[in-house]
Amino acid sequence: MSDLDSYQINDRYTRDEGRVFVTGVQALARIPLQQLRADRSQGRNTAAFLSGYPGSPLAGLNFEIDKARSLAPELPIVHRPVLNEEHGATAVMGSQLAAGQPDCAYDGIVGLWYGKAPGLDRAGDALRHAVFTGTSRHGGAVAIVGDDPAAKSSTLPSSSDATLVDLHMPILYPGDVKEVLTLGMHAVALSRITGAWTALKVVAAVADGSGTVDLSSSVVLPKVPDLTIDGVPYLHQPDAKLLPPNNLHLERDLRTSRAELVRRYVVANELNPTTVNPPDAWIGIISSGFTYHELIHALNALGLKSQHEIASAGIRLLHLQLPIPFDPQNIRNFANGLEEIIVVEEKNPTAEWLVKDALYGNSHQPRVLGKNHPDGRILMPSHGILDANTMLEGLHERLSQKIPDKLRPPQKPEEIKNLLPLKVQRSPYFCSGCPHNISTKVPDDSLIGAGIGCHTMVLLMDDDRVGDIAGVTAMGNEGMQWIGMEPFVDRKHFIQNIGDGTYFHSGQLTIPSAVSAGSNITFKLLYNGTIAMTGGQDPKGVLSVPDVAKVMIAQGVAKIIVTTEEPALYKEAS
Ligand code: SF4
Repeated sequence: MSDLDSYQINDRYTRDEGRVFVTGVQALARIPLQQLRADRSQGRNTAAFLSGYPGSPLAGLNFEIDKARSLAPELPIVHRPVLNEEHGATAVMGSQLAAGQPDCAYDGIVGLWYGKAPGLDRAGDALRHAVFTGTSRHGGAVAIVGDDPAAKSSTLPSSSDATLVDLHMPILYPGDVKEVLTLGMHAVALSRITGAWTALKVVAAVADGSGTVDLSSSVVLPKVPDLTIDGVPYLHQPDAKLLPPNNLHLERDLRTSRAELVRRYVVANELNPTTVNPPDAWIGIISSGFTYHELIHALNALGLKSQHEIASAGIRLLHLQLPIPFDPQNIRNFANGLEEIIVVEEKNPTAEWLVKDALYGNSHQPRVLGKNHPDGRILMPSHGILDANTMLEGLHERLSQKIPDKLRPPQKPEEIKNLLPLKVQRSPYFCSGCPHNISTKVPDDSLIGAGIGCHTMVLLMDDDRVGDIAGVTAMGNEGMQWIGMEPFVDRKHFIQNIGDGTYFHSGQLTIPSAVSAGSNITFKLLYNGTIAMTGGQDPKGVLSVPDVAKVMIAQGVAKIIVTTEEPALYKEAS
């Protein structure tokens, strides 16, 4: 019987060798299993702790984690979904403090936090406290951040790099499912060795993507760099006593010792390799993660179909698997002999600035381009998704300076995708039977706040049916825009939709805020017991409808109406 004939769907979590088929989200769920198995093979008694809040592109991660755990009952993996992202971040911070307690049963706990980019934003303060506190030597803490650069399933397009830089988290950026596993294990090892939290940036194309992984090449045996700082071996002890002068000592430690050890780890493990390196290179291209893989597709589309053809065109390539922070000397070595460097990265020119900084004052300074051509025209857009199609024209123009005869003209994206024109248009709509179908009907001239989740579809519907939609806010701030609008407009009332998932995540605080501001808002809370848009998980910290009503009464809400098809359910409570 062949390997394929005996393959079972659960092998993706139970196998330690051979090949498995995984999606990006399943590869993320495999990380704690793979790490704990590797620890046991080295005689370490470790555990894993996961917490956070899912949401596309990490939708379904919570279910996959639970499935993976159930298939490996011999491994101590604890998964505690909580109300929202900041509570999850603080819980993972606790997993690092646990290892220092005298009654801790494990050598260390691998802490994994997960959330999408807006969750990273809202958990910023909690994560900053966790970062200062740091990680334990046999534990480690990793923030898995889902980026949605094209806003496929988010209110805003996102790229978390700048936020992670500000949080002092080294960023590991996988470009496919195999790299999710290898860089996931590096993220844990880097965190353990340096005492720093690390981040695994997972874009939608990688989370939603899938592939076959040879497990023998996915297990990482990290090289430990020299850990000597100021003449003594460095060992970070997680410390949450965050008041002066201790917090200032921790800041110094974070910005000096831990940052230096991160640099040494990147160098020792060659995480940012030069992948194509012809001796006569005239141009260098630097890219990372998913964007690096798209860069290769773009070069292929321009007629450079193999590493050999890329090299013979005089192109040097640098693959940043850990784009921030990188080793400046690596960039100086890469720049040797080049006339020009192009930094291909989505959204912000973060790596472009760091490359320029690394080369400033160097004896050899090639021209460094990223977002713009030398004359200021856009070279690589900083908005939307930066895929192979989007980078074709810019790459073609820069490479044509020297090798026009080796290049194919860039095809227009429409020609490549060959989209068929549609004769009909279909707007997304609520499921049949969904209470939104009725609850979104409003009196004439109503001003409405859209709620995060399925209710945002009202933005695509006729005003006649759903009212004048004032837009949508960040999750957990529903209705708060009216507090700033109300004093300046004639209308005296605002209707705000909010789902129970959002309400229990953070939106419940908007009610006492509205009361304290004296704002005239009708909140329409859709209570259906599920968080539909982020994969269908149950909301956490749920109260019954009568208990929600009791809380609202205590908060000073003027009038509460329960609408239901089964009034008998609530008669006694009323
Ligand atoms: S809330 Fe549930 S039933 Fe309603 S539209 Fe969303 S997924 Fe469908």
